[in-house]
Amino acid sequence: RYVPEEIGTLLSMTQPLKLRGYQKWDIFCKAVHNIMNNPLLPADNKGVMVALRPVPGLRVEQALTLCRPNRLGDIMTIGDNRLVMFLTFCRINDLDTALNHIFPLPTGDIFSNRMIWFEDKQITAEIVEMSAVTADRWTAPLPVTTEKNEVMNAVHDGRSWRRYPEPHRLTDAQGGQPQ
Ligand code: C2E
Ligand code: C2E
Repeated sequence: RYVPEEIGTLLSMTQPLKLRGYQKWDIFCKAVHNIMNNPLLPADNKGVMVALRPVPGLRVEQALTLCRPNRLGDIMTIGDNRLVMFLTFCRINDLDTALNHIFPLPTGDIFSNRMIWFEDKQITAEIVEMSAVTADRWTAPLPVTTEKNEVMNAVHDGRSWRRYPEPHRLTDAQGGQPQ
């Protein structure tokens, strides 16, 4: 028997996240929790979660400005001095490929440490830990992150981001000579 409402519900459950990019800490936790509890998604193959700690001297909200996900369902949050990403349907062996698509610089230049979870149980356990982090330890993104998601002077060649240098003359606004 054809029951449109039930089919609609079923279809909506098969769809991966409709979110992309930065999410507030609690929204991120809820979204990943929902994916983990979706019985229609493949067990232990829903995606990869990775927590990245920026190199000394770089704040996590600055690292976030370099994080430019393209795929719908790729979400991230910042807090507790970490950038945490969930890459929908990414396989563990493809993590570096995905990160190369997402960051315009080698991730080793931006982050000094990373932790990875890819089985439902591990991801769920980490989300429980993350949900216990109180709001005073969540980090607000810099205003620039909420603006247009554009890569300046960088081109994706199908494998990774490349930046092409542009020549600039070092003169001041009055047309003076370089110092
Ligand atoms: P989407 O999944 O939201 O991905 C948006 C864009 O992110 C893609 O635009 C592409 O530029 C980039 N992207 C996402 N995943 C990958 C990947 O694994 N490798 C590479 N090299 N780039 C990736 P694009 O290509 O115009 O695709 C637009 C939409 O069409 C995608 O949105 C997706 O819904 C669908 N699509 C395209 N190709 C495929 C595919 O091979 N498999 C699946 N399942 N969907 C695809
Ligand atoms: P996959 O999702 O099975 O995609 C396999 C290949 O199909 C990709 O190889 C790419 O050539 C093509 N493809 C898939 N989706 C798209 C799309 O939306 N647009 C375009 N233009 N091509 C697409 P690739 O790029 O070497 O990626 C290998 C694997 O790395 C992917 O396997 C996926 O598991 C992971 N991956 C790569 N980029 C992303 C990403 O932006 N987000 C996530 N979540 N995973 C990614």
